[in-house]
Parts: sequence; structure tokens; C-alpha cells
Amino acid sequence: MSRVAYVNGQYVPHSRAAVHIEDRGYQFADGVYEVCEIWKGQIVDQTEHLERLDRSLRELAIRAPMARGALIRVMREVIERNRVKDGLIYIQVTRGVARRDHYFPPEDTPPSIVMTAKSVSATKNEAAAEQGVSVITTPENRWARVDIKTVGLLPNVLAKQKAKEAGAKEAWFVDKDGFVTEGGSTNAWIVLNDGTLVTRPADHGILRGITRSVVMKLAEMKGISVQERAFTVEEAKSAREAFITAASALVMPVTRIDDTVIANGAPGSIARDLRKTFHDAAELIKLGGA
Ligand code: PLP
Repeated sequence: MSRVAYVNGQYVPHSRAAVHIEDRGYQFADGVYEVCEIWKGQIVDQTEHLERLDRSLRELAIRAPMARGALIRVMREVIERNRVKDGLIYIQVTRGVARRDHYFPPEDTPPSIVMTAKSVSATKNEAAAEQGVSVITTPENRWARVDIKTVGLLPNVLAKQKAKEAGAKEAWFVDKDGFVTEGGSTNAWIVLNDGTLVTRPADHGILRGITRSVVMKLAEMKGISVQERAFTVEEAKSAREAFITAASALVMPVTRIDDTVIANGAPGSIARDLRKTFHDAAELIKLGGA
């Protein structure tokens, strides 16, 4: 079955879906995005993702392309037209199409909106989680507002490519004081010897991951304590466990950081349990026909 994308009001074949060359997303990375998991025919944490999308738009003074209800209807339509039961939906909004000029375009320029949905093999993800993944560390070189989920991801692209070339899945950015900020497309966590989870506070230095928030809720449900504080690369390397979180990876155990094997090199029991029970703490909204 061929895939379908939503582009500025129309459902079009994915292979022919296109935006104008003067779209400000293309010209200036002047746009924001969201990615939600689709799990067993349900949209995961839709409300939180759409709230973060609204916040990203507000922070950049980009108009919302449509009302929340309409956006949700389009999301469902894109997921259904692509027959996705397990996978991801991607939503991107930019400041619209205008003659190239750094200044904002005229007020009445409509924002551009694009949505795609794709199936992702649940078994492939599970296999990765069974093994655990490696991360490398790399100096933080992003702008100071990474709390906004913009499409300006060049440092993330370069860091993740560097990870891939080193045989790793993810790159952890490290600030000038030696503290881990987050991964190229994930939040970073460690587990202390007493089972406490540690993750960096969600100030302007990281993206406030929705998966991160859900893991915090899940930890609370399980009576696991969470410390929101920065941790160094050294602390991470000698931690009992490490893991990363994102809508596209859920809770993914980390078994190696640079050349250091974490604990005994196998995924830790806490990360495995958080992964297995993740959806107990998530918002799940059923899709039609699921
Ligand atoms: N940090 C960065 C830089 C990301 O790009 C992402 C997700 O794309 C995350 C963290 C995790 O966010 P979420 O859990 O909302 O997917």
C-alpha cells in the first residue's frame, strides 16, 4: 500500500508530497515539529505532545495552523490512511512560504503544516532493547533554546552520524562543565546503586521529553525515587544502569558509553521494567478500526 502524507490541506501520495522551495522551514529551519508513538492502534500521549507543539509555536511566535480539534482529526486520518497500528506520526509546522527574507513574513502568511505516519516494527525495537545500545559523548554545541522542538537539528544530525560511524546508536551532548545534557534525539538517564533515577532538569538546556515525563510518573507509581539533577560522564560510566527515552525509542537501555561497558554489559533490570510497563503510565487514545 502506498503511503499518504498531509500537506497544507491535502492528502497526497507520500512519494509526491512537497512544499514550496521558499517555505521558511526549508530556507531557515523556521519551524517546529512533534513525533508521537502509535502503539497497538492507539495514539500515545497525544495531549502532552500537542501542548508542547503549542508551546514551541508560541515561543517562536508562529501561528497555530489550525484548531486543536481539527489537528487531531487530521492526525487520525493520516494514521488511518497509512494503516499504522504500531509506528510514529510526524507533525511539522513552519512559518509558511514567503520571499526569502530574514524578517518575519507578513502577518497574514499562513503557516505550513505537514504530517506523515509510518509503521515501525515492534519486534525490531524489542530486539534492540534486549541487547541494549551504545552511546558516544560529544561536546554540546547547540543553541541555548533546545527546549523548543525546532526543525533546526544540524548539530543533532552531525552528532548522531558521528555515533553511527562509531557503531553507537546515540550521542550524548556534554556541556562545558562535563555534565551530560541529553542525546541527539533522546533524553539521558542513569540509575544509582540504590535504584534512584537521575535525569537532568528540564530547563532551557534540554528538550522536556514527553517520554521523560511519563517515566517520572511511572517511577512515582512504582515508588522509585527520581533526582532531577545534572550528572557527569564519569558518574554515568560507573552507574548501575543507564538508559535513554524518546517517543521513538521508549525506554532504551544503554550498555556502553564511549569505551566503557555499563555494569555487566547487559540491559539493567530497572530500565527493562520501565520499558515493559511504560504504557501503564501513558495516555492512550484509541484509533478507529483498531
Ligand atoms: N531530546 C531531543 C533532542 C529530542 O529530539 C527528543 C525527541 O525527539 C527527545 C529528547 C525526547 O522527547 P520525547 O520523549 O518527547 O520524544
